[in-house]
Amino acid sequence: MSDIAANFEVVLKKIRRAEKSAGREEGRCALMAVTKTQPVEAIRAALEAGHRLFGENKVQEAQAHWAALKEEGRFPGLRLHMIGPLQTNKAGDAVSLFDCIESIDRPKLVQALAQEMRKQGRDIPCYIQVNTGEEPQKAGVLPQDLEALLAQCGAEGLRITGLMCIPPEGVPAALHFAFLKKLALRHGLPELSMGMSGDYEKAAMLGAHHVRIGSALFGART
Ligand SMILES: *Cc1c(COP(=O)(O)O)cnc(C)c1O
Repeated sequence: MSDIAANFEVVLKKIRRAEKSAGREEGRCALMAVTKTQPVEAIRAALEAGHRLFGENKVQEAQAHWAALKEEGRFPGLRLHMIGPLQTNKAGDAVSLFDCIESIDRPKLVQALAQEMRKQGRDIPCYIQVNTGEEPQKAGVLPQDLEALLAQCGAEGLRITGLMCIPPEGVPAALHFAFLKKLALRHGLPELSMGMSGDYEKAAMLGAHHVRIGSALFGART
């Protein structure tokens, strides 16, 4: 567990160096720790080291990891983002647990989340996930459908503050990061969630609001 705090320092240093090399103001890119598949001790180690921004990709696992920790109330400023595919029948659980949902990608989900937020009296910011590589097996709205989905979010009162993407394997991620940024600028969305363990320095250079890091912080997932 002592490695975890050290890994955070290494990754943060690389993010700051990347920002600087791109002429970005230092500290603009936040580090999100992705805690899927991690033991609770690893999560605690990150929290005790002062880390507060986390991501999970499954509702059930996120509940198991975080429901009790959130109840403790010992970690002010704690923010938990949903970064994985979301089924509409989990919308209620997602709205009550998460502080931001990054994986909005279809009209039915917009409807379900808007309805749950009204029901629960919660207003949490959301991102739209864009399938920048137009991969058939991958989640995310196709770039050409983004505008219509944003219009629907506006009509239903769902607050969209950013875009998220997971670039295809085997091609330069930088092209996808730059494309996501262009889409965000076009639609006036300030926050970009992009970059993982293999490519976060590029993302930090190209305007990420936060990078989503799992294995570089906690070691390879088994
Ligand atoms: C697992 C996951 C990450 C982190 O991946 P690493 O390569 O371990 O850093 C980032 N984003 C999403 C959506 C993930 O599911």
